Amino acid sequence: MSYRPNVVNVTKAGSNENDGLYEFIVKMADGTACRVFYHRFPKWRLSNVSRLQKTPCPVCRKDFICQCMDKFSADIHRQMEEGQWLDNLVGK
Ligand SMILES: [Zn+2]
Repeated sequence: MSYRPNVVNVTKAGSNENDGLYEFIVKMADGTACRVFYHRFPKWRLSNVSRLQKTPCPVCRKDFICQCMDKFSADIHRQMEEGQWLDNLVGK
């Protein structure tokens, strides 16, 4: 079974504008939600992704903490850029 995250919605959950730190809640098409941390400077960089434990992990099916979503951080970041979520939620 190969899982591919499909980002359908992103909301801003917190930020420290001075330090360029941002926290987003990213929802996937399958109902999985993740908390995603970003550094803005010198350019947008995804620093951490962790699944919210509202639904079981789509990869390993655990309903407690696991590291599975780490493997998809590059894919999630690409979708964040393609969907222009960062620009739309934070501004350029
Ligand atoms: Zn997992």
